Amino acid sequence: MLETLDETVLVGHAGYQNHQQIVALSDEEAGLRGFIAIHDTTLGPALGGCRMWNYADSASALTDALRLSAGMTAKNALANLDFGGGKAVLIGDPRKDKTPGLFRALGRAIETLGGRYITAEDVGVTMADMDFTAQATGHVRGTSASGLGDPSPYTALGVFHGILAAASHRFGVIGLAGLTVSLKGLGSVGFRLAEKLHDAGARLIVSDIDRTAVTRAVDAFGAASVDPDDAHRVAADIFAPCALGGDLNAKTIPEIAAAIVAGAANNQLASEADADRLHGRGILYAPDFAINAGGVIAIALGRPGVSEARIAQKAEAIGVTLRAIFARARAENRATFHIADQFAQERLVAARARSAA
Ligand code: NAD
Repeated sequence: MLETLDETVLVGHAGYQNHQQIVALSDEEAGLRGFIAIHDTTLGPALGGCRMWNYADSASALTDALRLSAGMTAKNALANLDFGGGKAVLIGDPRKDKTPGLFRALGRAIETLGGRYITAEDVGVTMADMDFTAQATGHVRGTSASGLGDPSPYTALGVFHGILAAASHRFGVIGLAGLTVSLKGLGSVGFRLAEKLHDAGARLIVSDIDRTAVTRAVDAFGAASVDPDDAHRVAADIFAPCALGGDLNAKTIPEIAAAIVAGAANNQLASEADADRLHGRGILYAPDFAINAGGVIAIALGRPGVSEARIAQKAEAIGVTLRAIFARARAENRATFHIADQFAQERLVAARARSAA
C-alpha cells in the first residue's frame, strides 16, 4: 500500500528539491491514490495540509506534492515554528470521491511514518475528513477535537499586521488611517481582513466574482467596488490579493497602481521572475509565504490548553518578520521574495549546524 519512491525516480521531476522522503499512496479498496512528500524535517516533524484535487495524472499530483511541501518548509521556518515542511496530495474529485474509508486509509499511511509527517486540511479537504483520518493516527491537526475551528481569522490577523509593517516601511506611517486598499477576494480571509482594515481607518475598494460578497462589504464598510480584473489597476496605496494565486504576473505587474502588494493569497507570483519585476518597479511586495502564515501558525499551535491569545500573538509577529525582510531588502537592494527565502534558509542552516555540533 505504501511505497517510498527512490531518489532516481525523482531527480529531474518538476518541483524536486532534495526531498527527504516521498511516499506513493495506493489503497484500491479504500479509493486512496496520491503522495505524501516530506521535504525537510530539520526544524521538526514535517507539517503541511492534505489537498484533494482532480489531477489529470499522477505525475502532476507528484509535482504539486513536491512544490507544496518545499513551500511549507520555507513558510514554517519563516513563521518561527518548530516544524519542517510536508504535504499530502490525494488524487480524486473532492465532490464525488470522498469516503470515510479513504481518509481512514490516509490515516493508516500517515501512522506508518511514525510522526515524521503531520497532516491538516487544505483545498478540497474539510475538518470532517480530518476527523476520519484522526481515527487511524494522532498525527493530524485541525480536527474538531482540537477546538481550533477555522484558521482563517488568524490568517487575516497576520495579513493585517503584515500590511501595517509594509505601510510603516514604505510610507513611514503608523496605522492605516486615510490609506486606500484595493482588496481582491472577499472569502473567509478577505472579508475578515476588510473588517480590520476598515476599523483601522483605511478606505476600501473591494472586488470578488461573487456579487453577494461584494454587496456585503460595500454595505458593511462603505467600500467602493470594482471589477476583479481591474483590482490591481485602480488608484490605491495597497493592493491586497486575497483570491486565488497568479495575480502577479508579466501582464499585471506593469499595470499595478499601488506602492505595496500585501495579501493573503497563496502563490501570488506566476513565476519567480515576477518578484524581480515588482522590485524593478519599486513596489514593496510582502511575500505570500511570509504574510499568510497565520493559518499554519494556528494549526501548529492549536490544541486544547493553548490559548487563543498565544496563537494571536504569534500571528501578529508576522509583522516583525516582515519588517526585518523589508529592511534587509532595502539594504541589499534585492527583491523581498528572495530575502524571505534567504531568511528561511538561514534558519535551517543554523539549526543543522546546531544539531551537527
Ligand atoms: P475562500 O475560498 O473562502 O475565498 C476566496 C474568495 O475569492 C471567494 O470569495 C471567491 O469568490 C473569490 N474569488 C475567486 N476567484 C476570484 C477572482 N478571479 N476574482 C475575484 N475574486 C475571486 O478562500 P480563503 O480561505 O479566504 O483564502 C483566500 C486565499 O488565501 C487563497 O489563496 C488561500 O490559499 C489563501 N490562504 C488562506 C488561508 C486560510 O487560513 N484560509 C491561509 C493561507 C493562505
